Amino acid sequence: MVSQRLAPFGTSVFAEMTALANEKGAINLSQGFPDFDGPDAIFEAAQKAMRVGENQYPRSRGHVSLVRAVAESRERLYGLAFDPLTEVVVFSGATEGICSSMLGLLNPGDEVVLFEPAYDSYGPCAAMAGATARYVTLRFPDFAFDESALRAAVTPRTRLIVLNTPHNPTGKVFTREELSTIARVAQEHDLVVLADEVYEHLVFDAAVHVPIATLPGMRERTLTLSSTGKTFSLTGWKVGWGCGPKHLVDAAQAAHQFVTYATATPLQVAMAFALREFRGPYLEKFRAEYLERRDFLVSALRDAGFVVAVPKGTYFVLADFSALHPGDDMAFARWLVTEHGVAAIPPGSFYAADRTEPRRLARFAFCKRMETLKRAAERLRKVRA
Ligand code: PMP
Ligand code: GLN
Repeated sequence: MVSQRLAPFGTSVFAEMTALANEKGAINLSQGFPDFDGPDAIFEAAQKAMRVGENQYPRSRGHVSLVRAVAESRERLYGLAFDPLTEVVVFSGATEGICSSMLGLLNPGDEVVLFEPAYDSYGPCAAMAGATARYVTLRFPDFAFDESALRAAVTPRTRLIVLNTPHNPTGKVFTREELSTIARVAQEHDLVVLADEVYEHLVFDAAVHVPIATLPGMRERTLTLSSTGKTFSLTGWKVGWGCGPKHLVDAAQAAHQFVTYATATPLQVAMAFALREFRGPYLEKFRAEYLERRDFLVSALRDAGFVVAVPKGTYFVLADFSALHPGDDMAFARWLVTEHGVAAIPPGSFYAADRTEPRRLARFAFCKRMETLKRAAERLRKVRA
């Protein structure tokens, strides 16, 4: 019964692997959600909002307190000025942002350039908009791309480049030089960039998150998406946003008004509070804690016999398991969860053009308590044996 557009995509690998992890009683390092809660003060802000009557439909483009807090945070962090009332739109998570933006910006027959591995919803959302995806493959372990591969993916039908930095699932943080290449191609071909920056605060070592909208000439052609789910460890609240020039925000809004119309009112009010109150010191601690988790998981995977691409950003790590198992990514992920009680994501559904690339890779999430990661490390140690 599933429509022709969606039939090729099957069930989300995240739902599938979390269900399998629960069924097997495994430690779940598959789907990216923290096994700890966000700050109490944000819960109190949501409860207070409910008690003072913030319970009916909000403004479709976003509660005024939240669009203001988003605009203020963009200005403070990146020096990007957006008019909160016309250049910001609140979505029910970046997931809805991706979908509404593509539905609002694309015409049937248009083409979209994706870097693969590509977050699993990009391809299906392009398909829902009647567009076709073309891919530039980022290869393990350095995930570099060259300009000629990007240029080869652009045709006269291309309308959009989707850029995800920091990048799920590779942990790549696009450098200023790489972003300049993308910006040059976008400007030469008059393309829009849909920049998915949900991991904007999760960068490590010397890596710096550079929003592509800050590059010369790019503010006018970039719609930037982000989300509060990762930053405040509240992925189930599903509060995200898009920022960009009015003509791009209006396009996304044209779809958003009919997709969800709006996002839960008290949660928007609480997230406005979070953006205002949880700034520098909170974000520094957040990054430091994730750095400790990253380093721990990377060494646990190496000790177990994986070859690891150390992530510069996000809370994921891609690891090559070929020294440990002869099968493909799906066979390995099933074996690991069944025989060793650790769930990981087989990254096959992030790849469409080069199906051989993911066959030896598994994605592990480190958005978990150190105690959980230590238990996982004990189990992983037995994999080599
Ligand atoms: N984009 C990327 C790259 C992601 O990893 C995720 C989710 N984890 C999303 C978008 C979706 O964000 P949200 O949970 O806010 O819908
Ligand atoms: N973004 C999360 C991940 O990559 C999952 C989000 C979802 O389940 N849709 O694991």
